[in-house]
Amino acid sequence: MRYVIIGNCIAAAGAVEGIRSYDQKGEITIIDGERRGCYSRPLISYLLAGSKGAAGLHYRSEAFFARNQARVIPARAVRIDPPAGQLELDDGMMIDYDRLLLATGASPLIPELPGIEHPRVKTLYTWKDAEEIAALVETGATAVILGSGLIGLKAAEALHQRGMKVVIVEKQEQILPRLLSPWSATIALRHLQEQGIQVLTGHQAVSISESGEVELDHGAKIPAQLVIVAVGNRPNQSLAREAGLKTGKGIIVNQYLQTSDPDIWAAGDVIETHNILSGAAEVMALLPLAHLEGYLAGCNMAGQAVRYPGAIFLNAVHFMGMHIIAAGEPNRSGTVLQWQQGSSSLEMTIDGDYLLRYIAINLPGITGPLTAIVEQQIRIELKEWQEFIREPSMASLPAAYWAEMRRWEEHGGLRCG
Ligand SMILES: Cc1cc2nc3c(=O)[nH]c(=O)nc-3n(C[C@H](O)[C@H](O)[C@H](O)COP(=O)(O)OP(=O)(O)OC[C@H]3O[C@@H](n4cnc5c(N)ncnc54)[C@H](O)[C@@H]3O)c2cc1C
Repeated sequence: MRYVIIGNCIAAAGAVEGIRSYDQKGEITIIDGERRGCYSRPLISYLLAGSKGAAGLHYRSEAFFARNQARVIPARAVRIDPPAGQLELDDGMMIDYDRLLLATGASPLIPELPGIEHPRVKTLYTWKDAEEIAALVETGATAVILGSGLIGLKAAEALHQRGMKVVIVEKQEQILPRLLSPWSATIALRHLQEQGIQVLTGHQAVSISESGEVELDHGAKIPAQLVIVAVGNRPNQSLAREAGLKTGKGIIVNQYLQTSDPDIWAAGDVIETHNILSGAAEVMALLPLAHLEGYLAGCNMAGQAVRYPGAIFLNAVHFMGMHIIAAGEPNRSGTVLQWQQGSSSLEMTIDGDYLLRYIAINLPGITGPLTAIVEQQIRIELKEWQEFIREPSMASLPAAYWAEMRRWEEHGGLRCG
């Protein structure tokens, strides 16, 4: 069996593990478009900050691929020919496959702004980006970050650590709009400001001048040495689309992570994932999901039939000494319970007997159980949550949680090998 994987990051690493759980002999070929090996994207901001060296960036080492007899080709795939079972690389080489995985991830969105092509305007998405930004860092000069999502905040933290003055410009009225409620965003904002980061919410850039000056929609102008664009990402699905596969917001897959072509699977940031709470198909660009999806796709490529039930939105951000974990449905309303003590806080949204969402700041101990309760939709009455929120801790978790955990352990997790 000839397995080919396009992309060499998180989903690809998971897929190698999945394939090798069942097939020790098949040929595995990986097409590495970045030519950097399999590295962990979330670590590039630490490389930029100078707190991590290049050697610490790899998610899976070369030894991992050698041990699993996976050949890595440094090249980009430019075309897939499903009827012929072939793909073409950017150097013209043709590769035959029996089973193909698209693990092509996503790329940053670039807004159409005058001056966006300026050489001091960058994105922070790849290892190369981090190196290019590092070369432009100037202590004491100003860096403007467009967008206050996870990547924008990680860029802000890294540049602040490198001694730059950081100004974040956010179009929405609050920071981390996809992750936080307005209440919890206020707590996080205060923390950023206390660290010396300037945040302008409710504004957007309209142009960037030759000298690097960023003009905002209300006319203010910020002279900047560096501008980081972090306004969102888009799945890399053009190869799939051109090959005639079904696509939407991301590549469309079934519950076995198989695309509309039975010989082609897809996993990671490039796919639409089934949101098990809302029932909707959504792009969930998260590292643990990319690995799990890659792993399950690999198992299925090797002949298994393991179902992927989908996932919930779960995100963990750590910046400037603040830990934020949020999980669940941001768009549904219910009874909101809030707790705050010093720099720690917890917000929970409950609908009937179900926890729809939680946002925990600097409260890491209980987020595992709360995530399990959201994900598995464990029934817990509102009055039990009202008791819990008075002093949230492992000890005060409702009894129904522990009962469900015992049942889950007996059934085992999502493994195929
Ligand atoms: C700065 C930053 C911080 C992050 N922090 C977090 C975090 O804290 N928590 C979290 O859960 N997630 C985080 N993420 C998201 C996380 O990195 C992604 O969810 C994860 O990397 C997805 O893995 P993937 O394998 O699906 O895709 P990717 O990691 O995007 O890898 C896809 C690879 O495929 C390559 N490729 C694309 N097209 C081709 C082609 N035609 N031929 C060959 N190769 C191709 C790409 O160049 C890329 O190397 C962060 C991302 C960034 C950028």
